[in-house]
Amino acid sequence: MAATAFVSGATGFIAQHIVKQLLEKGYNVVGSVRSESKGEKLKKNFGSNFSYEIVEDLETEGAFDKALKRHPEVTVFLHTASPVTAQAEDNEKDIILPAINGTVNVLKAIKSSAPQVKKVIITSSGVTQLDGVDLSSTASEDTWNSISYERAKEDGIAAYIGSKTFAEKAAVEFVETEKPNFAVSTIHPVLVIGPQAFDSEAKGQLNLSNTYVSGLLNLKASEGGELPQSDGIFVDVRDVAAAHLIAIEKPTNGLRVLVHSEGYSTQEFLNILNKNFPELNLIKGSPTENLVDNKYVGDVKSREYLGLNYIGLERSVVDTIKQFLEANK
Ligand code: NAP
Repeated sequence: MAATAFVSGATGFIAQHIVKQLLEKGYNVVGSVRSESKGEKLKKNFGSNFSYEIVEDLETEGAFDKALKRHPEVTVFLHTASPVTAQAEDNEKDIILPAINGTVNVLKAIKSSAPQVKKVIITSSGVTQLDGVDLSSTASEDTWNSISYERAKEDGIAAYIGSKTFAEKAAVEFVETEKPNFAVSTIHPVLVIGPQAFDSEAKGQLNLSNTYVSGLLNLKASEGGELPQSDGIFVDVRDVAAAHLIAIEKPTNGLRVLVHSEGYSTQEFLNILNKNFPELNLIKGSPTENLVDNKYVGDVKSREYLGLNYIGLERSVVDTIKQFLEANK
């Protein structure tokens, strides 16, 4: 019989690719969503081997118990749901606490209501391996972000970084104190770019991490203006999903798996867009300046563990923008 995986936050950009790849591999998938309309939309796209459970609020005590009790066939749990935003009215209440409490609720529910689950994969982030809010610091499988709770509350970016860090620490503490019957692995993507799992999802505003690229489509050459500079490391969403599937099948043995492809900068994005979509007539910036070293190899252990042939920046950007333009014609 096919194995069944539970995916929390199944509506998410990354989660939809995880579900898609799980179904392609022959798994049945149960996803948690926040409303019936969201669940029905997913069901239409994913087909009959996908079903959903409504979990309105990650933070409600026992939020996942009922959903898990209804699915004794689930043997793997992938926890992706978490607030992905840097803009909130209340950083602690809207970003930090749902991430921490959601993770703890998931782990408690599995322990008490799904003893047959042996593997839990948590979508953490490369930011939990950085130094504070310094996005240019080097992340590796062995480093932990030391951001304090007080600092995390100060602004949206710090809150997101703190939320992921504290949630992962809460999971480590849960395993140490509760000694559950399941193994917990964490996957640490850097900035995730890539096409949506379904063309229909590319209509309108894209998910937050893709706006690093799609936001540049507003910079028309005719209007001139300054190019906002940022740089970092990216990974394609299809590789992030593949990393989750690898972690199901091959124990991570405590390796906090960093998933990344190569470097990006705003200028590199713009160069790729101008080369592949000249009809958009975007500003040129300074095409030979502010490029990044694409040979980033900071995560030897994770790279060896995953053995992925990572999708490069140009293909990722082109696939994302082609789909976006087509969907929004
Ligand atoms: P996304 O598209 O915004 O998906 C987030 C998911 O979490 C959605 O299903 C969302 O539900 C759910 N969610 C958010 N807040 C919630 C809450 N308070 N209660 C219940 N559900 C909630 O983001 P994504 O980019 O796919 O990110 C997925 C995971 O990957 C997150 O854990 C994120 O931290 C991690 N990650 C992302 C990146 C990146 O660059 N994208 C990089 C590293 C790690 P709705 O659809 O109903 O809002």
